[in-house]
Amino acid sequence: MAGSGGVIVMDDSRNMVEILNNINEFYAHESCGQCTPCREGAQWMKKITDRIVAGGGVAEDPATLKNVADNIAGKTICAFGEACSWPTQSFLAKFKEEFAAKSTKALPPPMPPEYTRDELVAHDSIQAVPAPRGNGHEIMAPAATR
Ligand code: SF4
Repeated sequence: MAGSGGVIVMDDSRNMVEILNNINEFYAHESCGQCTPCREGAQWMKKITDRIVAGGGVAEDPATLKNVADNIAGKTICAFGEACSWPTQSFLAKFKEEFAAKSTKALPPPMPPEYTRDELVAHDSIQAVPAPRGNGHEIMAPAATR
């Protein structure tokens, strides 16, 4: 048995983050959902690369992606688990700089502490916090609502 493999040829103008996002979308769609690491991990990898491509990447994303991929391979009942994690693992290893450049933002600040009712009344304005979900944590509430 020689095994099997595939080769994709593309020119060097391609954005490797976008290509991995395309691959992740395929695997997230194709997972049958029987194994938790594959079912959840494939979706997580796609969501992370979706967010990086949309401009909302944070500096921790490459490490998070690798961690997710490392926890799929070898932990599923069929070889699809390896197939969906290997692209992420190899892209991160071979194109480290491209992923780092697209994932440059700092993590969003922690949520503000709980305010008591009196403190809410006493404050002219409450510190705005990033939207918990969105394309990037820089998306904030409009100034009028802060
Ligand atoms: S590893 Fe195979 S069996 Fe498990 S969820 Fe993925 S596709 Fe299904």
